[in-house]
Amino acid sequence: MIQSVNSIPAFDNRQQYTTIAAEVSAVVLEILASGRYIGGAVVENFEQQFAAYHHVSNCIACNSGTDALYLALRAFDIGAGDEVITTPFTFIATAEVISAVGAKPVFVDIDATTFNLDVQQVAAAITPQTKAIIPVHLFGQPVDMTSLMAVAIAHNLIVIEDCAQSTGAKWQGERVGSIGHIGCFSFYPTKNLGGCGDGGAITTNNSEIAAKLRVLKEHGQTTRYIHAEIGVNSRLDAIQAAILTIKLQHLDSWNEKRQAIASRYHEFLSAISGITIPQELSGGEGVWNQYTIRVLDERRDWLRNQLQERGINTMVYYPRPLHLQPVYESLGYQVGQLPISEQGANEVLSLPMFPELSEEQQQQVIYSLKDCF
Ligand SMILES: *Cc1c(COP(=O)(O)O)cnc(C)c1O
Repeated sequence: MIQSVNSIPAFDNRQQYTTIAAEVSAVVLEILASGRYIGGAVVENFEQQFAAYHHVSNCIACNSGTDALYLALRAFDIGAGDEVITTPFTFIATAEVISAVGAKPVFVDIDATTFNLDVQQVAAAITPQTKAIIPVHLFGQPVDMTSLMAVAIAHNLIVIEDCAQSTGAKWQGERVGSIGHIGCFSFYPTKNLGGCGDGGAITTNNSEIAAKLRVLKEHGQTTRYIHAEIGVNSRLDAIQAAILTIKLQHLDSWNEKRQAIASRYHEFLSAISGITIPQELSGGEGVWNQYTIRVLDERRDWLRNQLQERGINTMVYYPRPLHLQPVYESLGYQVGQLPISEQGANEVLSLPMFPELSEEQQQQVIYSLKDCF
């Protein structure tokens, strides 16, 4: 797509990089010269800092958010014959890992105002096979973890938080990823704490699970070249760990910028009829990985094109809910079965959102949006 000079991207991390470029270059060059590219003190230091940031006792770095979720399920011995409840309104990775360990994803519809798993409906989906719930803090907005944990504890279920889009978010003052049994994070470049490549991490206060994760992520190796179970190779590179350590120092201030941008969107867009703006739950402090509006009356694609013509780039997360994906046809879900997710897929539009989005750029987005209606 050709973009005009004044076009506004949906996401841009180049400007952010310039603010830390000197520091990043120095550590990257140091690591290159050191010859120590895998593991070592740099990775351990990042793990300690990430754990401290979340007030948890263990952080295990790994290769991606997808691996973090996969390893979490493996560590709790979830597999064939087990069911895991999750949302259909998320990135495929959330459900893909459930299938990858041999378990069955069970999709429960979302709440219309938050786009997150409808906790009221979770209890009704529990069967004797249910072992775990994977809530996703979608778009940076925390799930009501108080209600969700109550359901999980009552039914003795494991809660695996998918925090890929919500690093730094809080529910009732506690960081997501520290409330359930285990938290899974992605450092994919578009996430709130994004690396310069792939990366992920797992947080938990359960030291036994942490020890299992360290074995699983290194080929099931208990002592060198002794393998107790089938594992994977999932490591965070030293270079990524060093970059993420620098970026972690800035995460709160970058998230505050996202919150300020979200407040301005709220302020200027709330009066437009034809769209609804995202709502926050009281008790939650979201970090706005995305600012996602709903466009009513089947005008989403029309609006997206109109904005594109005005140089405003937007995204659709996600155009098809997971229960209607070809890969999950065998699960037998029908169109209309999870109506709120299906409606969401037809109405959502994510506006430009990144900490460096300037007020002028944002005014251009707001002006263009108003101009379309
Ligand atoms: C990005 C993402 C993942 C996967 O993370 P990767 O690091 O890309 O593997 C999982 N769940 C959600 C909700 C995501 O947004």
